[in-house]
Amino acid sequence: MSAHDTRRARGAEITSLLGEPGLLPFLPLLYVAWADGDLEPDELRLIGSKVDAAEGLTPSVRAALGRWLDPEAPPSAQSIQDLLAAIRRGAEGFTASQKLNLTDLGMELVRSTGHPVEPVVQDALRALEAALGVAGEEATRRILIGERPAPPAAERRPAFDAEAMSRLLDGEHRALRNEIRSLLSQPAFRPEPGLGREAYRVKVLSWCRELASRGYGASPENLGGESDDGRYLATFETLAFGDLSLLVKFGAQFGLFAGSIQQLGTRKHHERYLRQVRTLELLGCFAMTETSHGSNVHDIETLANYDCQRQEFVLHTPHDRARKDYIGNAALHARIATVFAQLQVGGESHGVHAFLVPIRDDDGRPVPGVRIEDCGEKMGLNGVDNGRLWFDGVRIPRESLLDRFGQVSPDGVYTSPIPSPSKRFFTMLGTLVGGRVGVGLAALSASKLALTIAVRYASRRRQFGPEGAPEVPILDYLSHQRRLMPRLASTYALDFALKHLVRRYLESRAEDRRELESIVAGLKAVSTWHAIDTIQTCREACGGQGYLAVNRLAALKADTDVFTTFEGDNTVLLQLLGKSLVTGHKRQFGEMSLGGLVRHLAAQAGTAISELNPVVTRITDEAHLRDRSFLLGALRWRAQHLVGSVARRLKHRIDSGADSFLAVNECQDHLIETARAYVESLVAEQFAEGIDACSDAELRRVLAPLFQLYSLWRLESDRGWFLEHGYFEGGKAKAIRKLVNKLCGEVRSQAVPLVDAFGVPDGCLPPIAA
Ligand SMILES: Cc1cc2nc3c(=O)[nH]c(=O)nc-3n(C[C@H](O)[C@H](O)[C@H](O)COP(=O)(O)OP(=O)(O)OC[C@H]3O[C@@H](n4cnc5c(N)ncnc54)[C@H](O)[C@@H]3O)c2cc1C
Repeated sequence: MSAHDTRRARGAEITSLLGEPGLLPFLPLLYVAWADGDLEPDELRLIGSKVDAAEGLTPSVRAALGRWLDPEAPPSAQSIQDLLAAIRRGAEGFTASQKLNLTDLGMELVRSTGHPVEPVVQDALRALEAALGVAGEEATRRILIGERPAPPAAERRPAFDAEAMSRLLDGEHRALRNEIRSLLSQPAFRPEPGLGREAYRVKVLSWCRELASRGYGASPENLGGESDDGRYLATFETLAFGDLSLLVKFGAQFGLFAGSIQQLGTRKHHERYLRQVRTLELLGCFAMTETSHGSNVHDIETLANYDCQRQEFVLHTPHDRARKDYIGNAALHARIATVFAQLQVGGESHGVHAFLVPIRDDDGRPVPGVRIEDCGEKMGLNGVDNGRLWFDGVRIPRESLLDRFGQVSPDGVYTSPIPSPSKRFFTMLGTLVGGRVGVGLAALSASKLALTIAVRYASRRRQFGPEGAPEVPILDYLSHQRRLMPRLASTYALDFALKHLVRRYLESRAEDRRELESIVAGLKAVSTWHAIDTIQTCREACGGQGYLAVNRLAALKADTDVFTTFEGDNTVLLQLLGKSLVTGHKRQFGEMSLGGLVRHLAAQAGTAISELNPVVTRITDEAHLRDRSFLLGALRWRAQHLVGSVARRLKHRIDSGADSFLAVNECQDHLIETARAYVESLVAEQFAEGIDACSDAELRRVLAPLFQLYSLWRLESDRGWFLEHGYFEGGKAKAIRKLVNKLCGEVRSQAVPLVDAFGVPDGCLPPIAA
């Protein structure tokens, strides 16, 4: 007998099995098991083993099921069609609007024959449906009415008002954001790929001057005093749609440099400097990092010795690798620097403090004792002049110490409102957290720009298609949706989370930012990593066009790359958050006494995690998987579980005599995962709260699937962990994967208006997205 004849015989045999009455309730399940063709032999065996374990099935039903589920002998396409026809015959009269899962449908088939439904069979069906891991209601719908046809073009028209969504995202500073948008749309502000480095730097400086002259460095009424951080952050976020060298130079001057004077200085500094800094009469830089010490600011080595006789500080670079490095604005334009150095008074060290140090004279030449070098060509951001600084006995007056948190009297007595050196250090750094918030927001805008380009392009670009029919827009391909839609949903999620963070930041007092600081650290890391992943994905999604400089993605990729490093290296920042989570946000690890640390760890390690409900781990129906309490619950559970487990591991090590540094090092991966899980849970929560707070029902309806897609994508991405910890069974993980596919299709239908709502100004969009 030929292989063909064997298959035919097998098909006839299997078709004849449809006559087995006991098999009737299982038909929908058997159909779904084979219809998609995506079950692995192991999965079929797993379902087969559930059949074996099921109680109350007759031997003939058991045998029939065994044959249907035999991975070695799959049914023919004809048998599967026969199966579907048999189900549809039995289900005549049911409608797709009846919400039935596969178990329900099977039982209805039995009832339709007038036979009673046996509870044991129902139980067996439920177990098999869970093991199959399909979104039951959706599968039933497909059995009853077939695949949903692609929505006609008319259905893809915006189902919501993108302008209203844009207003929601822009929030309070919409008018200011629109001003920046129209400025960036002017031909003079267009990014110019291929401009040489020197010309690029000149151009970026002239753009900065233009922005300063229009008052964007500060609102006019507070040029010399209180800053308006809300306006500044909205300006910074919107500027990130344009040239990113401009953004970073603007940030170095108005964020880092002005911010250091504002936050670390006192009235005399504000009055003397802020007006000139915010109008750009005085260009400055923020010199914290040294070649030897970047992430570890505590141990920088530049010295500032107080000379009591002359009432001056003497700045000194003790060795070559203690030079200041990568400093934005330093190579060419800055006249003055905020220099972070170890303060020494009368031979006693008081830790890191900030000093205002002139570095160039009026003619732009380095002042005596200061050496300056250009960092040269970089991977991106070449319109910014990053440089290195050395100090050789540079003298500055006593008043140049930014003395909000530590003062030196003329006769050399050091005082501080914060007696603990380490608390003082963290408080000083904590006041600078606004820069980190800004980078998180700028990364968000960069993601929005990349997605706007890629989504618009994909909605028009056509490749391949059904035989004899027009080619299909690439955005209609599932794989393209899979690449872009979860990232679109995440960008919306991060928007809500970052805006919430900004509100908290603006409401907080500088001295009271410990918890906020660690959350800022986590969100900055997640937002910047999201940006570089999204930009790379969008670049590939635009094919060859994405590679052309004129289409902006190349520069966007190069310029945002360093967002993961400056304003705090992401890996270091996630550790900061991880440590802060296990110490209950109270203190940093190194600061606590060992006893205090162990008490905190014990409390966290003992935190009760809600019990896993064995039914919930298996539920796969769509309503459950879309349900907010399931989604938030799963993300919270993971974060909570990780905090508890890393605390137990740390405590175990410290109890066994390891010092805290070693203990942390051995649990570093765990701490980082804890922090990431916490941020993801926080983002979902803020997104959900933001949706609730939105008064426009239409927008809430559009945002709901974005929330579901964001949350399910996070669960899907970490399904290994959830499976490892028994939070899902395999069937549930598969059902999530299928629902993510479905949600990608749903979001795709609104993708163009969803990116339009980001409000990227037309002048910032390249030809492929115009
Ligand atoms: C373009 C650009 C502009 C900049 N502008 C300024 C500026 O204007 N002013 C300023 O002061 N600085 C500036 N910087 C410096 C920037 O802030 C630092 O580069 C950053 O803080 C990281 O320090 P680092 O480069 O020394 O890296 P390192 O701290 O040496 O880190 C190197 C690697 O080691 C890892 N690592 C470090 N510590 C740990 C740890 N404990 N556990 C595990 N892994 C660890 C990090 O994750 C990273 O991958 C700029 C940098 C660049 C590139």
